[in-house]
Amino acid sequence: MEHGRKAAVLSLIIAVSASLLLSGCFHTHEWAEATCTEPRRCTGCEETEGEPLGHDWQVATCTKPRTCKRCGETEGEPLGHDWLDATCTEPQTCARCGVTEGKPLGHSPADPVDEDIVDALCTEDGSYREVVYCSVCGEELSSEDKTLKALGHTTKNGFCERCGEEIHDKISGEGNAFHEDIAVGGGLFRVRFTNEGRGPFNVWVKYGDGTRLQAVESWGTYDGAYFLYSTGPYSFEIESSGKWTYKITRLENTDESSFKGTGSAVTDIFTAPSGEWRFRHTSNGDFKVWIYTNKGRELLVNERGACDLLVPVSIPSGSTCVLVLRVDGSWIVETG
Ligand SMILES: [Zn+2]
Ligand SMILES: [Zn+2]
Ligand SMILES: [Zn+2]
Ligand SMILES: [Zn+2]
Ligand SMILES: [Zn+2]
Repeated sequence: MEHGRKAAVLSLIIAVSASLLLSGCFHTHEWAEATCTEPRRCTGCEETEGEPLGHDWQVATCTKPRTCKRCGETEGEPLGHDWLDATCTEPQTCARCGVTEGKPLGHSPADPVDEDIVDALCTEDGSYREVVYCSVCGEELSSEDKTLKALGHTTKNGFCERCGEEIHDKISGEGNAFHEDIAVGGGLFRVRFTNEGRGPFNVWVKYGDGTRLQAVESWGTYDGAYFLYSTGPYSFEIESSGKWTYKITRLENTDESSFKGTGSAVTDIFTAPSGEWRFRHTSNGDFKVWIYTNKGRELLVNERGACDLLVPVSIPSGSTCVLVLRVDGSWIVETG
């Protein structure tokens, strides 16, 4: 029986030990991971170890409060949008997140303003730009090029009040006449005389320096031009048995290289190369042609009657030209 008692005690010890193990006092912990707010904890015995992790906060945004990335817990309120006002071209916009709301306001066109103004002159058009800006943001919305019409000369006593150019109205008369102090400033002018009388028609021109030259020597109706190349004041002495007129005009620059007409004429100012120029004339009367260059005057043609001539003409380099013709019939000049 002694042996049987020992065995009984041993099995009791085992049983007690096993029950102690099973009751937890000496078990292996089964750890649950720590959370934001709880330390690591044994699922068997509730024993804990370490500290809670603490929340892993993500900052608040316009639409979400501060939020834990791990557990999703929130704190406080969303920030709300930080609105910037809508502009002409952008809707209301959050400065923080860029979200927009509504529509852009659109531009507000102001009254047109005139810019880049080039004033019109007597004989030249001017121009400007008509520009419309946005009254809010200043952006240029539209632009239109406009023209200012040339103003025309304002003639008073033979001079333009605006540009000072000498303007001569057509002068009419009848019979003999003497016109003094016809002021012609610097420059080259053409005087066109007409006559309706049946008798002699003679005109003498007296220059400012006293020189007196016969400008017209004719009989009956007349329509021809005379060259005024000096400076005034001039005097015109007219002998006529009928009605006559004269008109003074300033010579213009021209791109023409050939000229034609009937009767005495003065061309506009042109440029042409040296070479053989062709001169044609179709009446029985005089055909005289002078050329004026920066070297002075030269008689190119001195004929009587119809003719068709090639004449060598030498033009000083850089010089412009004017042709003065004293002719009865029709004529043609081809330069270069
Ligand atoms: Zn435990
Ligand atoms: Zn958390
Ligand atoms: Zn926002
Ligand atoms: Zn605008
Ligand atoms: Zn003018």
